Amino acid sequence: MNERDSNALAADLLKRGYELTDNENAADILLFNTCSVREQAELKAVGKIGILKKLKKKKPDIFIGVLGCMAQRRGNELLKELPHLDFVIGTDQLERLPDILEKEIIKREQISLTEENSEMPSTLTEHIIKTNGVSEFIAIMRGCDMYCSYCIVPYVRGREKSRPIPEVVDEVNKLADRGIKEIMLLGQNVSAFGLNQNTKVRPLESPFADLLTEINKINEIKRIRFISPHPFFFNDKLINTIVEHFPKICNNIHLPLQSGSDRILKSMNRRYNINMYMDVVNKLKSKIPDITFSTDVIVAFPGETEDDFNNTRRVMNDVGFDNAYIFKYSPRAGTPASKYEDQICQQLKEERNQILLKDLTERTTKHNKAMEGRVFEILIEGESSRNAQKWSGRTSNNKVAVFDHNPNLRIGDIVNVHIDRSTSMTLFGSIISS
Ligand code: SF4
Repeated sequence: MNERDSNALAADLLKRGYELTDNENAADILLFNTCSVREQAELKAVGKIGILKKLKKKKPDIFIGVLGCMAQRRGNELLKELPHLDFVIGTDQLERLPDILEKEIIKREQISLTEENSEMPSTLTEHIIKTNGVSEFIAIMRGCDMYCSYCIVPYVRGREKSRPIPEVVDEVNKLADRGIKEIMLLGQNVSAFGLNQNTKVRPLESPFADLLTEINKINEIKRIRFISPHPFFFNDKLINTIVEHFPKICNNIHLPLQSGSDRILKSMNRRYNINMYMDVVNKLKSKIPDITFSTDVIVAFPGETEDDFNNTRRVMNDVGFDNAYIFKYSPRAGTPASKYEDQICQQLKEERNQILLKDLTERTTKHNKAMEGRVFEILIEGESSRNAQKWSGRTSNNKVAVFDHNPNLRIGDIVNVHIDRSTSMTLFGSIISS
């Protein structure tokens, strides 16, 4: 989400006549778009901004600003800790950045903008598209109302707010006109898009499904992905919509699990149990060929017993995830779980983490092997990062495939590729036809 915000802000500033530079010594304005999800990320940002004190002394005319989650969380406190900072702009006020740069900062007073906004800003819709860009992110909502016990997001990103469907569709259309073939819809909880309700009962309606249906009508867009849905809101309407619009809606679903133990899920305040989770997975598996799932898992959450951990291992295996972001639990100040007494020691965290990682690699290797000898549609994304003589692209189920260049084809085309061999990370193949 931060990457998307940074891109939109940079595009907006470019339009207003600013130039971008990667060289901090050449910049007149230095902006840090920060994340607060992990304490480490904040410490790193504060350290980096602290170092700039010297630069500011040498070049007092430069402006330094902090944007995003850390600005939201710490506001004035950050301005006091880092007096060489000129402004902080929180997550709900980002669209005011150009105004601040044009009218306010010349007054040379520190500025802190951290008020919550109940509406999703409608101006952060510009995109800087890389040369030969094929895929773009689109932020469809902000904030989160779920209050998982380990997560700081609801406190720094505020209440859930969604964009109107026509506005998102308009943005997708503009991207399609610029040659984009694949879009990734972004939000902290995309499956709750447009619901605007904090409910304890799974809703039957799904405005997110309605949004997918509208985007599906845009012919130039060949693939639709989204991240991250919450299993609680993954109802039959959403499942049926994904099935109906497959293969344009890709057959790889990222469905955060977090734990395979009902007891731990309750302690995490995740609002689903393993039966509910598996029901979603099994319905999708029964209707979509070759569907794959990726996930997020927190290992060694406070109170996680050997049994709880083994349940996570078993569920991961039952679903057959072949990609997972596995995080060792780390307490985040300001969240309920950071005060739980039954924290797990570092050594056990490490051991359990390694076990899950090993399972994951074995499973991925096996899944990729099973793809050998078959033909898959690949969206060509560009040159392979390891071998400029080859192209690289992705299957619908989000596997990276590498294959020979073909002068008759272009980046953004979809080709049929026969998979000749594989590793745990990559498929290697030959083009059959386009
Ligand atoms: S749903 Fe995701 S973003 Fe929201 S509180 Fe839970 S973990 Fe955080």
